[in-house]
Amino acid sequence: MTTPRIAIIGAGLAGLSLAHALKERAELQMFEKARGVSGRMSTRYADPYQFDHGAQYFTARHPSFQAFLKPLLAAGLVVEWTPKVVTLAKWEAPYKRDWFEPHYVATPRMNRLAQHLAEGLPVAVSVEIAALERQGEGWVLHDKTGSTHGPFDWVISTAPAAQTQKLFPAECTFQPTLAQVQMTGCYTVMIGTHAPLPWHWQAAVVKDSPLGWLAVNHSKPGREGLASSLVVQSTDVWAEAHIDEDVPAMQTLLLEELEALTGWRPAAEDHVATHRWRYAGTATPAGEDCLLDASLRLAACGDWSIGGRVEAAYLSAMALAAKLP
Ligand SMILES: Cc1cc2nc3c(=O)[nH]c(=O)nc-3n(C[C@H](O)[C@H](O)[C@H](O)COP(=O)(O)OP(=O)(O)OC[C@H]3O[C@@H](n4cnc5c(N)ncnc54)[C@H](O)[C@@H]3O)c2cc1C
Repeated sequence: MTTPRIAIIGAGLAGLSLAHALKERAELQMFEKARGVSGRMSTRYADPYQFDHGAQYFTARHPSFQAFLKPLLAAGLVVEWTPKVVTLAKWEAPYKRDWFEPHYVATPRMNRLAQHLAEGLPVAVSVEIAALERQGEGWVLHDKTGSTHGPFDWVISTAPAAQTQKLFPAECTFQPTLAQVQMTGCYTVMIGTHAPLPWHWQAAVVKDSPLGWLAVNHSKPGREGLASSLVVQSTDVWAEAHIDEDVPAMQTLLLEELEALTGWRPAAEDHVATHRWRYAGTATPAGEDCLLDASLRLAACGDWSIGGRVEAAYLSAMALAAKLP
């Protein structure tokens, strides 16, 4: 039997861990539209600041994800994060929250995990796949610049469900399942400040506010010596209600909320930038751990199959690796 040629779209955790599971039994090519790997576990640089502006941390409940993390923990590439976490609300004093399971971060920044996994894998970055074309028994991929890639025996998408839905043909058997998935947005405001932040906690869950989460990014393990940086994330509900609005206007609203909540706002000379994530979390997952059309040789996986968490991205990829012929 000849070695199957497989295209994997997306080099976030799902795509990269799937590639590791398949690399001995397939000829792989990965395509990533961003300039680097990591997807929603990425890190934004604004010298001298750094921001983990997507996933903030991850937990590990399933034995297989715990086993995946074990060598990474031993190597110090992933470490437990034990910040002082508080609950904040406008009219209440902050109160301490307890975490009842380990919360992990990659070091020295979140995107390091994906960068480590990508070593030795055939990842073409800055290549956005725009269309698939059937050629005989195989698939040819067209990217946004008009170049073609392939043919491939299988195409696997790890892009968010709505993007996979657009890429894959209407006759793909799991199109109805993709259509049911609902992902939610998030605005992330990144603040790099010259002055020390005037509070004693490192992370906060916010109640009754457009803001959902604050993290003192440079206080995460492995970031010692980095300039003072704060990550402010909106709630998914607020982001969805404002998803098509002007990003600078949303930044202004979120900064006003931050000031109302903490009494602090960045100074004029501080760095402030905002990223809009259209697909951050998952409100309605696919309800299947991965999706596969054996007749067309198309498949899809990603966190949205199971639920919007880092661990779910890994578990979905492992489920697909086990199901692929
Ligand atoms: C703001 C935010 C906060 C979060 N907080 C947490 C948290 O605290 N804890 C937690 O566990 N999870 C959190 N998550 C969710 C977590 O980041 C995801 O569950 C996980 O990273 C998903 O990995 P993935 O590989 O499935 O998808 P992704 O990381 O989205 O990877 C998909 C990749 O496909 C690429 N792609 C898409 N379309 C194309 C195309 N046409 N051609 C080429 N490439 C393409 C994308 O660029 C992307 O790199 C958060 C996410 C966000 C955005």
